[in-house]
Amino acid sequence: MDFSLSPEERALRDSIVKFSRGVLNDHVAERDRQQEFPRELWRKCGEMGLPGLPVPPEYGGSGLDAVGCAVALEALGYGCTDGGLVFSLSAHLLACVVPLWKHGTEEQKRRYLPGLCDGTLVGAHAITEPGSGSDSFSMRTRAERVAGGWKLNGTKTFISNGPVADVAIVFAVTDADKGFHGGTTAFLVDTGTKGFSTSRKFEKLGLRTSPVGELVFEDMVVPDEAVLGKVGGGSVAFGSAMDWERALLVAGHVGTIERLLETSVAYARTRTQFGQQIGKFQSVSSKIADMKVSLEAGRALVHKAAWMLEHSRTASLDASIAKLFVSEVLLKSALDCIQIHGGYGFMVEYEVERTLRDAVGSTIYSGTSEMQRSIIGRWLGL
Ligand SMILES: Cc1cc2nc3c(=O)[nH]c(=O)nc-3n(C[C@H](O)[C@H](O)[C@H](O)COP(=O)(O)OP(=O)(O)OC[C@H]3O[C@@H](n4cnc5c(N)ncnc54)[C@H](O)[C@@H]3O)c2cc1C
Repeated sequence: MDFSLSPEERALRDSIVKFSRGVLNDHVAERDRQQEFPRELWRKCGEMGLPGLPVPPEYGGSGLDAVGCAVALEALGYGCTDGGLVFSLSAHLLACVVPLWKHGTEEQKRRYLPGLCDGTLVGAHAITEPGSGSDSFSMRTRAERVAGGWKLNGTKTFISNGPVADVAIVFAVTDADKGFHGGTTAFLVDTGTKGFSTSRKFEKLGLRTSPVGELVFEDMVVPDEAVLGKVGGGSVAFGSAMDWERALLVAGHVGTIERLLETSVAYARTRTQFGQQIGKFQSVSSKIADMKVSLEAGRALVHKAAWMLEHSRTASLDASIAKLFVSEVLLKSALDCIQIHGGYGFMVEYEVERTLRDAVGSTIYSGTSEMQRSIIGRWLGL
């Protein structure tokens, strides 16, 4: 077993950290205040190949394996202080680009992937509804057969990138008698389609540069070619999107934990109280030691889950373990980082509090911590 990065992975990490620090980190506090999605920076991320990391080059992607994607996203989460941008890119990549690449027809892939990979297009993934979140299988959005296609009616909520997306994967019930497995279908929808609208953009606690909104479908007709995978195969497309998202979205969080760790160490070494560095107080250094353990354990879990994506029939258990652990230690590390900074950590200008606000959503999106524990319990036969 080799725990070191290959020379290529090291070079990838270094180039993304350098790009993030040099290009993505200006005026983040202001963007956060204004809740502004930086479309121009999205295009620059496209030039770096970030929105299409695992997609084969023939479709415009970077052709990385899943562990390479983990290395790249960790580097982004470490180098880029705009947590909303990192989140938007990760959601686009893992919940829209990946299922399209895995389940799309040749025509769908040729049509959408190049633009989704080069930063021209923004993608979204829409399953949550006002009445169904954790219990997403009880969705009410319906697609009924019409000549040459499907007519969709319903509302999706909390959709990342929804207000700015060009293309969205939308889940709808196509056969209520069959239930989620066999009775739901994923559709690949241009957001310019007649009957598609974004009814609202939410104001949020954190990740404020990542727009989240509500999507409404009113007699929206899409052709048969819009079906992603098979009719009735929505649960398959959803399952593979969730495996990739849960395993790799938190790779960025691992990078963020490393940044919190370094920030905390630097502050604990320079801030003095009672005539000594605060890092010499055991209750301060213990928090930092816990961050280091979180970083190492989180990285190992993410790399294993990423490896499982390509070497096992299912990565679902490992993806849930990684998602649960990393999101919870991210939240704890962000809170501890503020505590170590004392009053300065609480002030916006020190740019520590934003990481905590950004971290809170991590135990909710992509399945709450409670749901991850429930999935892990099911795998254990409970
Ligand atoms: C920042 C952000 C981005 C998001 N992006 C997207 C997106 O791009 N696409 C998308 O489709 N959705 C997205 N979501 C929605 C997200 O997936 C849901 O919010 C999440 O699944 C929880 O659903 P809910 O909010 O309806 O809460 P509920 O399901 O109503 O849960 C409320 C509480 O009850 C608990 N609970 C519910 N059921 C159980 C159970 N069986 N056992 C134990 N506890 C339970 C939950 O854990 C939670 O604590 C996003 C959410 C956020 C916050």
